[in-house]
Amino acid sequence: MNERIQKCIKRLDQNNIPALYAEDKKQAFEKVISMIPEGSVVGFGDSLTLRQIGLVDALSKGNYTFLNPWEPGTSVEENIEIKKRALTSDIFVTGTNALTLDGKIVNVDGQGNRTAAMLFGPNKVIIVVGINKIVDDLEEALKRIRNIAAPANVKRHTDFDPMPPCGKTGECSDCTSPWRICNKTVIIEWQYNNDKYKPIITVVIVGEELGL
Ligand code: SF4
Repeated sequence: MNERIQKCIKRLDQNNIPALYAEDKKQAFEKVISMIPEGSVVGFGDSLTLRQIGLVDALSKGNYTFLNPWEPGTSVEENIEIKKRALTSDIFVTGTNALTLDGKIVNVDGQGNRTAAMLFGPNKVIIVVGINKIVDDLEEALKRIRNIAAPANVKRHTDFDPMPPCGKTGECSDCTSPWRICNKTVIIEWQYNNDKYKPIITVVIVGEELGL
């Protein structure tokens, strides 16, 4: 484990956000799947990272009620309904756009379903993050999101019509596109760990580059 990851885990721990380390995709998959009991209702915030570690495939085929709003053939109405159900799932699994060295989990969403579920609702939230998303501070996190993550995500969504300009230029122009994905910014800094309320979120940091 490198020094940056160690620092990050230490700070997350101070912020009452338990964090685990996985050396690679395989170990990340094993750690996450072991935290999801069979029969669970599992919500999903769209994440390339979770697809890359094989979790989406396993949850789709396994003994879970997997709430995937992006399952091929899902209508817009069904997509919204599934996103609403995910807000009260047993376990919500997702990636993140950035993680700072002082333990802040930073995300920008288009619709807000992913960020809403990270904040409150599910009994447990598991966030998986590749080493490439660890940044020095909040300023760098927001820059990374606007100039790396968002343009790459826009490109991935071939259904965006018209495509926001960053999909072509690779740079943020603070657009007014109807498909703008930078709408709702959420920074998770800390969580409760007291007599009444226990931590909900667990972070799994992977020692490989993952996601966008
Ligand atoms: S604000 Fe618009 S141009 Fe900028 S990153 Fe977001 S979607 Fe792309």
